[in-house]
Amino acid sequence: MDSLLASVANFVSISHELYINGGAVPSSGDARLPIYDPSTGMQIASTVDATAQDVDRAVTSAFNSFKSGIWKDMRPAERERILLRLADLVERDAEILAQLETLEQGKSLAISRALEAGGAQTWIRYVAGLARTITGKTFDVSIPFPPDARYTSYTRHTPIGVVAGIIPWNFPLLIGVWKVLPALAAGCSVVAKPAETTPLTLLYLARLATEAGVPDGVFNVVTGRGTVAGSQLVNHPLVSKISFTGSTPVGKAIARSCADSLKRFSLELGGKNPAIVLDDADLEQTVQGLMLASFLNQGQVCAACSRIYVTDKMFEPLRNALTQAIQNMTVGAGMNLQAQINPVVSAAQQKKILSYVQNADTEAEQVIIGQNGPNAEGYYVPPTLIINPSPEAVCVTEEIFGPVLTLTRTSDANEALQLANASSFGLAASVWTQNLQAAMTLPAQLEAGTVWVNSHVMIDPNMPFGGLKQSGSGADFGSDWLDSFTIQKSICIRH
Ligand code: NAD
Repeated sequence: MDSLLASVANFVSISHELYINGGAVPSSGDARLPIYDPSTGMQIASTVDATAQDVDRAVTSAFNSFKSGIWKDMRPAERERILLRLADLVERDAEILAQLETLEQGKSLAISRALEAGGAQTWIRYVAGLARTITGKTFDVSIPFPPDARYTSYTRHTPIGVVAGIIPWNFPLLIGVWKVLPALAAGCSVVAKPAETTPLTLLYLARLATEAGVPDGVFNVVTGRGTVAGSQLVNHPLVSKISFTGSTPVGKAIARSCADSLKRFSLELGGKNPAIVLDDADLEQTVQGLMLASFLNQGQVCAACSRIYVTDKMFEPLRNALTQAIQNMTVGAGMNLQAQINPVVSAAQQKKILSYVQNADTEAEQVIIGQNGPNAEGYYVPPTLIINPSPEAVCVTEEIFGPVLTLTRTSDANEALQLANASSFGLAASVWTQNLQAAMTLPAQLEAGTVWVNSHVMIDPNMPFGGLKQSGSGADFGSDWLDSFTIQKSICIRH
């Protein structure tokens, strides 16, 4: 363990540069962005604040590697083998990656181990397998000219070109894998940009990709601000597709820029995800499931449950059970495995969440606040339950992205459904019931890309994951995932 901690400390302390063409490359400028440990508020490292020139260099490196054919023309089985090797290297260094994630992001080390380092392996292995499944169709066509001619046509999916993967800070490694790996499996070259606050694990992953045999220039990383490096990537003429996960306002700005250049994009955006709890739900299972769904990673999960609508008879039992569970939650640093709530990612996020909680006082019947953090310097926010807010309250309509949950009494399932759907978001939802008919009908009526019954926030690479309404456009995961990183070409042969 000592040598492992030394490896973590060593990686944190190196001078982090850009990752271009298979190695560390200094910036053309000298601006740096600080990285803080959310449990102490202390600066632990810094990364390059990339300039437009840096982004151009990374995109050019990706473009040249794409044009050379070194990756896109490689046999799919060979690409698969290299990506499987990458998954093995992530497994080898899983503890280093997990520790880095907790250091820069703040989440529990247990979650970093299971969902970041563990999830990264699962998803890399899944997309590696997809590299060999890219197929087209063959068909006869009925073109009548010249009259005696016969034609056969087939479709061929070819990699789209350079993909820019833009990544948020809530699951930097796992979502980094979601933004980069399907593009690589499809044969594209990539420039990835992590969030300002959490760049370390993606920089580490890029090094592992080179070690695994991903050719130089195929996987590049630029660190920096969204408004500079991010927007420069979106507007770069040699980038063919933007694969973005992040907030709805930034997603919309990206869509507007892509409309100008007719660049393709997929957007995985925000959520305000409801749970409907019916009178016949199993109380213990529901409370356990909703506590996990609402407070995992301090609620900084796009699919987190943030609104509960409960029918009349179940209201008091659920209110009492949730109140007790929230007040019993222990709060502490992510490295403390006993702590159930850890700091949020940044001082800015902490301030934003606390202002929502302050406003909720005037918008709801009651606000229940759990324990606070062990020190004033860390970015702690106590777990919070807001009881019976008005439907128009800001805490109901806006994505808070923190450990804050609303609980609203409804007269019946129909009212719960109307309130659940009365949102501009449509990412995920859940239904808690023992009634088969409700379990069949409510998911079909809920306006969300993913609906769980008697669980919430459980994801799997096989289940397509995308949002309706303001929650996005396109979907990640599933057996067709690589299609959106390819161009479908029709080839027609006269014979
Ligand atoms: P954000 O939109 O602020 O930033 C996301 C990324 O975009 C960062 O790398 C940022 O630097 C970059 N960026 C910012 N402005 C940009 C611009 N003008 N052009 C290009 N890039 C730019 O989001 P965040 O605060 O990092 O993440 C939280 C948000 O992400 C929440 O809304 C959450 O719901 C959402 N999210 C969605 C999913 C999903 O799958 N639907 C998953 C995780 C997080």
